[in-house]
Amino acid sequence: MKKISNLLIGTNNKGKLKEIKALLPKRIKIYSTLDFKIKSPLENGKSFDDNSIIKSKYFSKKTNLPCLADDSGLEIDILDKAPGIFSARWAGKNSDFKKAINKVYRKLNKKDKNWKRKKIKARFICSLSICYLEKKIACVRGKIEGMIATEPRGKNGFGYDPIFIPNGKRLTFGEIPASKKYKIDHRFNAFKKIKKFL
Ligand code: IMP
Repeated sequence: MKKISNLLIGTNNKGKLKEIKALLPKRIKIYSTLDFKIKSPLENGKSFDDNSIIKSKYFSKKTNLPCLADDSGLEIDILDKAPGIFSARWAGKNSDFKKAINKVYRKLNKKDKNWKRKKIKARFICSLSICYLEKKIACVRGKIEGMIATEPRGKNGFGYDPIFIPNGKRLTFGEIPASKKYKIDHRFNAFKKIKKFL
């Protein structure tokens, strides 16, 4: 297969863009949807894979470039895997993650008032896809297992990072330096699988 030399990153999220850029081979010329000022499409799929492909197809058609897009989110087992594909939507129109994190804690308190004494299993999931115009070139998934912290900690990262403790660590993703986090997270694990298509 011919190697990809130009690639659009289909995300308007600066945190994700930074992580994805750091993982791509240096020979690829990278474009961002922020440069093209294209708004994100409606994510009305039923799974991370659906939404990832909706984005990579949409942005590829708008620019004529092959596009790599991701859809990711946090699943909390005792909340029946919520927020899941609604992870971004829990933060509202203004992407207010204090609000999303409060919603997580509100739901946990409602579900089990003793939750702080238990291990609340959770994972971040990332579906990465590459589309070129109408064609799906690849779609892979990565994850990282962990638990929910009893209170938000740390100022690094974005989104739900302050409340997620990966298995085997004591620190939240908000406390772990970004330079370390991006080498262990769900996006990195998905990247390892998609590399061969680049
Ligand atoms: P998406 O942009 O539709 O994929 O939304 C996924 C949401 O999940 C984002 O708004 C993030 O806040 C959250 N999320 C995904 N990956 C991470 C991560 O690595 N750390 C913290 N939050 C994340």
